[in-house]
Amino acid sequence: MRYHIWTIGCQMNKADSDKLAAGLERLGLEEAACPEEADLVVLNTCSVRQHAEERAISKLGVLRKLKSRRNFTIAVMGCMVGPRTDDLRRRFPYVDVFTRPQEFDPILEAIGIDGEDVGGEFWPRTFSIPSGPTAYVPVVHGCDKFCSYCIVPYRRGRQRSRPIAEVKEEVEHFVGQGVREVTLLGQTVEAYGHDLPAGPDLADLLRALHDIDGLYRLRFLTSHPRDMADRILRAVAELPKVCQYFSLPVQSGDDGVLERMRRGYTVAEYRQKLDILRGLMPEAAVSTDVIVGFCGETEAEFRHTYDLLAELRFDKVHVAAYSPRPGTIAWRRLPDDVPREVKRERLRAVEELQARIAGEINSTLLGRTVEVLVEEEKGGRLGASARPLGGRTRSGKLVHFGGTHPEPVEGAHPGDLVDVVVERASPWSLQGRLAGAATPRMAGGQPAPERPAGLAAL
Ligand code: SF4
Repeated sequence: MRYHIWTIGCQMNKADSDKLAAGLERLGLEEAACPEEADLVVLNTCSVRQHAEERAISKLGVLRKLKSRRNFTIAVMGCMVGPRTDDLRRRFPYVDVFTRPQEFDPILEAIGIDGEDVGGEFWPRTFSIPSGPTAYVPVVHGCDKFCSYCIVPYRRGRQRSRPIAEVKEEVEHFVGQGVREVTLLGQTVEAYGHDLPAGPDLADLLRALHDIDGLYRLRFLTSHPRDMADRILRAVAELPKVCQYFSLPVQSGDDGVLERMRRGYTVAEYRQKLDILRGLMPEAAVSTDVIVGFCGETEAEFRHTYDLLAELRFDKVHVAAYSPRPGTIAWRRLPDDVPREVKRERLRAVEELQARIAGEINSTLLGRTVEVLVEEEKGGRLGASARPLGGRTRSGKLVHFGGTHPEPVEGAHPGDLVDVVVERASPWSLQGRLAGAATPRMAGGQPAPERPAGLAAL
């Protein structure tokens, strides 16, 4: 039997799909390159934005046509599926099974496998097969925050943290397979452990994972200002393998909008958190998320957001125009009254501002040496041993090197840490050349090399 998984959405969805794939392969299924060749097609969906849901619906249209020509099993998993599926069943009668995020058993049942022995919410004994030197590891599932615009708590449920021992086992598995950088995932990752009996926190988890031999870098996503405790920040500042990179959504720069969004903090409180963070780690990279055109957002309220972004100068801003999600508090109680064209203009304004700021921040790296974890090795012949390579800095910046450069990038392979001198910078990426010879490929089990102090956060 052959399976095909189509995934859209966040890193959490990607991690869920990888885990499902590993589980299916453990059961003897083989991966098919396309739905046409599969006996089981799984759509792992996202409904955080309307656009993501529309893409899944259009994919379902393609599968319906395919199913009219031959029989196969269609499963829809992920955030499009809520606790009640009557409406989905009515709209998509040709879908065999609807299942919520991380609930894999119904898929197994649909293809005639008894999930009793192999299922379970997290399939704790099933680890994904890494496809490169980086991997995502979900550590907190669900969310307890209930921001008024967000569908996640209704679809992924209340917060559940995985025990430290279980996470550690998964990270060790990945490192044994050649993974060198692990990103710990949670919708509010710094709330990790609040629901566990002994009450460990993210700082405890980072310390427990830090000394795994062969692991070079640890990251975590996504932060929430209310959960960002000083204890966690101090752990990040102290532990050399933990990258000083924070994804800290602000969502709006206006207190009235933040209150309507039910974010649980004011602009002043957000700014205070960021001050503490930057005080402890002046070179830390910080990205943020912003929603423009939220219910009732006036021009003056939007201007507060724009001014805050100009003042705080983030490395990256993920900006989205508000779209109401059925079932959320905002959908039930607040009119979606900002015209589409106004939303578009505000989106464009933020994108233009951020392109300028990111370009300025990145250009400060020109001529400097940054540490890059080599991630890709694309095809193409540039000479006997030269290949275009790329990777990311500790701050998450994309760096290309080799490629068009005349010198061969001899000895650099995915999974190596290399030093790259930055020669070109754009708002979205950097380009450079290797500083001297690449470090030799490092065997698993060796500790990450000491980095010079000046490179710590780059
Ligand atoms: S913190 Fe808010 S936006 Fe983030 S997942 Fe939870 S409810 Fe959604």
